[in-house]
Amino acid sequence: MSAKPGKFRIESRIKRISKQHKYKENYQLLIENQNELIVKVDIDGRLLFVSKTYCETFGRTEEELLGNTFMPLVHPEDREKTAKAMESLYQPPYACYVEQRALTKDGWRWFGWSDKSVLDQNNNVKSIIGVGRDITDRKEAEEKLRQYQEHLEEMVRERTIRLDQEIYERKKAKEALERQLQFLQLLIDTIPSPIFYIDQNGLYEGCNKAYEEWTGKTRDQIIGKTVYDVFERQVADSYYKMDKSLYYKQGIQVFEATFPHHDGSLRHFITHKAIYQDESTGWKGIVGVILDISQRKKAETRLRYMEEKFAKCFHANPNPMGISKLGDGLILDVNKSYLKLTGYKRKELINKTTLEMNIWASSEDRARFMKTIKEKKRIENEEILFRNKVGEVITILFSAELITISEEICVLFTVTDITERKQLESEMRRLERLGLIGSMAAGIAHEIRNPMTTVRGFLQLNMNRNTLERDKEINKLMISELDRANKIITDFLALSKSSKEPKQLKSLNKVINDIYPLIRADALNSHMDICLDLGDVCEIWINEAEIRQLILNLVRNGLEAMTPPGQVKIRTLMKNTQVVLMVEDQGRGIDKELVHMLGAPFFTTKAEGTGLGLATCYSIANQHNATIEITSCSEGTKFFVHFPPVILHQDNRS
Ligand code: ADP
Ligand code: MG
Repeated sequence: MSAKPGKFRIESRIKRISKQHKYKENYQLLIENQNELIVKVDIDGRLLFVSKTYCETFGRTEEELLGNTFMPLVHPEDREKTAKAMESLYQPPYACYVEQRALTKDGWRWFGWSDKSVLDQNNNVKSIIGVGRDITDRKEAEEKLRQYQEHLEEMVRERTIRLDQEIYERKKAKEALERQLQFLQLLIDTIPSPIFYIDQNGLYEGCNKAYEEWTGKTRDQIIGKTVYDVFERQVADSYYKMDKSLYYKQGIQVFEATFPHHDGSLRHFITHKAIYQDESTGWKGIVGVILDISQRKKAETRLRYMEEKFAKCFHANPNPMGISKLGDGLILDVNKSYLKLTGYKRKELINKTTLEMNIWASSEDRARFMKTIKEKKRIENEEILFRNKVGEVITILFSAELITISEEICVLFTVTDITERKQLESEMRRLERLGLIGSMAAGIAHEIRNPMTTVRGFLQLNMNRNTLERDKEINKLMISELDRANKIITDFLALSKSSKEPKQLKSLNKVINDIYPLIRADALNSHMDICLDLGDVCEIWINEAEIRQLILNLVRNGLEAMTPPGQVKIRTLMKNTQVVLMVEDQGRGIDKELVHMLGAPFFTTKAEGTGLGLATCYSIANQHNATIEITSCSEGTKFFVHFPPVILHQDNRS
């Protein structure tokens, strides 16, 4: 039995062992064919068991691994995490899961370890069994996913930033645009001319303050409306028509119009309009500026009126006047009186300079004028010598003011011809001299005459005696020389005579006719001729003897001025109410420089002359209240004696 029971025990043991063996084999088989890594470690982490896959994975043999800790195989960065995870193996649920990198034979790979503690009866940890799985692929996929997510997030972040930036920039651009629009509105509001712009449908898009004032409407009442809402029908019609024509013709439209304004006044204005186009939309519109020229028009009308008034005053003025440029002396205008005074025609003077026309007779006068007008801006009654068209120098009083014409400084001048006054003054001086000399002569004439009469008496007496023929001749000569001296004294005395001599109302023609034979004989003697041209003149108060003397003196001078054959003409004529006697010769004339000497006693240019002829004439003329005027040139000389009207003379009669 024992065998039996022993045999049974052995058998059962064998059975059990073989069963165990079989079990172990299966178990071995199971473990070895696992893909997972299986290890068993003690509480110090020393490897007690490693599966075949573990050895293969780490490329080490079982001997190399067992008894060593697994930790050195773990990636340094994951060691702490692993140790921490493994702490939970010492308390319920005595299990943990940790993911770590470990250095395999193929390099670093990820493993997910599920660890479980093996406990004794007292729940003390005996050892730890770990099952690890290579999760590198998953980890990599996860990493990729993470990276992809990160990349996505980055993209979203970037996009968000960009969007924010775009929104910010857009906001800024919008603000800038608004600022610009505000600025433009401010700008056009500060422009004093009314400005507007309308779209292609004729609706107002905008305008400035001045336009609001111009229309009498607020911006709200204008924008979005048509001209018909803003202006009266007549005005709007015309605007509408002009706008249409602008679209048709293009370019810039300028039109001038006069319309009643909303304030009731009539406004004259110019509108400038042009088409503008929006590039992006292709929309067109019109922009316009209005220039109110009512004030200017008014000023222009006023100016025209003033100019007309000035022109009338200027041209109808009896005083000679003219306008010339200050800079170059260019003559811009002269009036009729000026032309009459100078003898020029208008076209001969206009647009010529005063220098060119040789108007200034004295360059000092011109320099003085320029200096005064520049310093004092005006000149008043300066005595100046002007030259007229025929070259005669006339004395004038010159007054001038500076005026501005078309932004050019000009001289408005007026002149007064004082040549006659000057002549009269010198005449007066001459007469004064005559009077003085005359009265001196009267004083001494008798004193000279008395001894001369005595001498002549004795000579005459001596002639009648029986003296020698030769002495008689000498006596005769002495008597004739004394007679000549006496004649001179008589002539000289005539100068001092006052108008006490009796006068008669007589015709000048009669006096001339009476002495004609005498003077004709005289002329013929010198192989010359006298011709009479006696007009229908009225009688005047004259002293016949004196007038004869005057005529004789003038005719004699005329004859003496000529070389044969020459002719002296005696004319009488009426000039206004005056009787004029004229004696004209064809002689060589009188030098200009000598004219002022004429009539001065003893002034003569002749070898045999006494220089008393003209002095006597002036004296006689003076006694008849007559004046003498001389014109002379190289072709001859004319003496005019102007007798005053008879009525005046009669009243003055003594
Ligand atoms: P006289 O004849 O003795 O010289 P007058 O007094 O008559 O003196 O004249 C003065 C001067 O006036 C003359 O010497 C002459 O030079 C000038 N004169 C007068 N009449 C004429 C004349 N008709 N033509 C040119 N010279 C004249
Ligand atoms: Mg004479």
